[in-house]
Amino acid sequence: MRPILSAGLVNGVFGDPSLYLDFRYARRAILFDIGDVGVLAPRKLLRLSDVFVTHAHMDHFAGFDRLLRVCLGRGSQLRLYGPAGFIERVGHKLHAYTWNLVGRYPGDFAVVVHEAGTDGAMRVARFGSRNGFAPEPLPALAAPEGVLLDEPAFRVRAAVLDHGIPCLGYAFEEKAHVNVWKNRLVEMGLAIGPWLQELKRAVADGLPDDTPIRAWWRNRDGDHERTVRLGEVKARALQVVPGQKLAYVTDIVYHGENEARVARLAAGADILFIESVFLSSEADHAARKNHLTAGQAGRIARAAGAKAVVPFHFSPRYLGRESELREELERARGAIE
Ligand SMILES: [Zn+2]
Ligand SMILES: [Zn+2]
Repeated sequence: MRPILSAGLVNGVFGDPSLYLDFRYARRAILFDIGDVGVLAPRKLLRLSDVFVTHAHMDHFAGFDRLLRVCLGRGSQLRLYGPAGFIERVGHKLHAYTWNLVGRYPGDFAVVVHEAGTDGAMRVARFGSRNGFAPEPLPALAAPEGVLLDEPAFRVRAAVLDHGIPCLGYAFEEKAHVNVWKNRLVEMGLAIGPWLQELKRAVADGLPDDTPIRAWWRNRDGDHERTVRLGEVKARALQVVPGQKLAYVTDIVYHGENEARVARLAAGADILFIESVFLSSEADHAARKNHLTAGQAGRIARAAGAKAVVPFHFSPRYLGRESELREELERARGAIE
């Protein structure tokens, strides 16, 4: 696998949950949950384009103020995503401050907040610094099959989970990456040109092999055009590298419906980051707090068919006993006997 990003828990396994995904080949990062982000340098916060929040408990959302402060002078916008009621909560955070001077700052920094419900649509509102972060409702956006963000290289999908309150689980899905063998194209009587972008998109979208692709290019002899079958170019001149899938699931109670939803969201994930707050010996306590035990997390990971699992959000009562949580999880997912 060719990793396009590095993923790391900002505060380790005991601190506030936050997962930072850094794109290796672009000055860009995205974040899942924004608890305490004091350890992230301003340049790392400034790289964030999108922040996906599971729910608004403090340990998952309290770092928003620091991010806001660092981003204020920048001209661009920051996209935030969260569960039902999130637009209002971000509004409350923004309006806890006085903004009489912000109109003089360079640029118009804006927070664009997306609220994902269960109806396949997102409510959207923009809070811009130029007008003191007054909310401006924007047209709702579709979120087909929970897809909140869909870009040429990746998509981010959410599932609404149960934590006593609605809580979003997320999956980051890199799309298949397509390499083109130029010499083999030439052997086929084709040449490189802007049509390769369409070709790559057709492959990424999983179009059938008999899809006609219009190949066109310009050289000294003028304009050229040919139509080829997708399957033929794919077989002879393309190398398709499957994308990486990461899932981030935290703060859920254990029951069949949650397990089924996470299994769908995280199906086949290369890495599943999943909370493992308590040991099974404290399952009653976990259920009262709407959290998972390590054993339950392991069972869910197994149902999802996750290739690797990173447990986190450990209760501080297990300081020095992390290995017990990890072992319980690995045993429950069948990775050790
Ligand atoms: Zn939490
Ligand atoms: Zn919580």
